[in-house]
Amino acid sequence: MTIGIIERYYDYLPVTDKTPMLSLGEGNTPLVYAEHLSDALSAHVYLKLEGLNPTGSFKDRGMVMAVAKAKENGADAVICASTGNTSASAAAYAAKAGLNCFVVIPHGYVAAGKLAQAVLYGAKIIPIEGNFDQALEMVKVLGEHYSVEIVNSINPYRLEGQKTAAYEIIEKFGHSPHIVALPVGNAGNISAYWLGFKEAHEHQLCQSVPKMWGFQAEGAAAIVRNRKISNPETFATAIRIGDPASWKLAVKAREESGGIINDVTDDEIREAYYVLAEKEGVFCEPASAAAIAGLYKQAKVGEIPKDSTIVAILTGNGLKDPDSAMQKNSEPFKPIQATEEELVKNIFEVEV
Ligand SMILES: *Cc1c(COP(=O)(O)O)cnc(C)c1O
Repeated sequence: MTIGIIERYYDYLPVTDKTPMLSLGEGNTPLVYAEHLSDALSAHVYLKLEGLNPTGSFKDRGMVMAVAKAKENGADAVICASTGNTSASAAAYAAKAGLNCFVVIPHGYVAAGKLAQAVLYGAKIIPIEGNFDQALEMVKVLGEHYSVEIVNSINPYRLEGQKTAAYEIIEKFGHSPHIVALPVGNAGNISAYWLGFKEAHEHQLCQSVPKMWGFQAEGAAAIVRNRKISNPETFATAIRIGDPASWKLAVKAREESGGIINDVTDDEIREAYYVLAEKEGVFCEPASAAAIAGLYKQAKVGEIPKDSTIVAILTGNGLKDPDSAMQKNSEPFKPIQATEEELVKNIFEVEV
């Protein structure tokens, strides 16, 4: 039977013998070598496919911990604000744990697959006429006055669970890579990875720690600009956040690791999204591609040390956002007549 992250990393997590061994089989995600990207960037690039978690994003690592602790502490409901993946994950783990789940989302800005997940897992969905940052503010106030457990990444158990990905990377290599690149939205994940690498180093599981390279979308680059963005915009909706909750922790991760937090344009993200699919066979969601767009950007200015080992975190599964994928098709499909002649004509673009 597969075991999840609570059982596998029991010794490194704030769990007790009263913590339920909740799991949907999260963690232990593949680390795939990316030949094309390695060539293009003159480095050794590996892709950590977090989209292969049970609900299709890395959020499951943190959510299994947050929901297990909520259950342990006697909660009967969880709530979150979400750009989509947090709600999908919260809804699934709440279902598994027998808790009610409430999700507050920015109306019109949640990818179709993510919304479908929350609906089917049975969460109560409350869309607001506002963005993620406003949704999170509302959820925080509610959490103060009512007995519902907030499972956004301001819940410390989320980062604890998410840090397990750093342990997995060290296990696979036997040491730390030079660089870990990932997209930054609410900035919880970059903070969690850094926590994981630092801890693993303290436990002497590795001799060094990587530099943390985070990438925000240009229209939502609060940390890069060092100011809140009141109307964040990007087609990578999972990182469409103007006031990251873990802002300070992310800056600390950047500083302590000697890393960077930079921004990438939507065009650069889109290009990386296509390259990943066409050259590496990996279908991730747009936000995930920001990590790769960032690597290209750093390579252009000669910032990638030759032959360095880089792990890019592909945070979410491409199937969550079919609409973004279909935008690549410039024209709608037109069916042909069902004859061999028509097929040959269309495939080889010749008259027969
Ligand atoms: C949540 C999410 C992010 C952003 O992670 P943060 O911890 O909010 O910085 C990036 N990509 C995907 C697919 C996500 O679901």
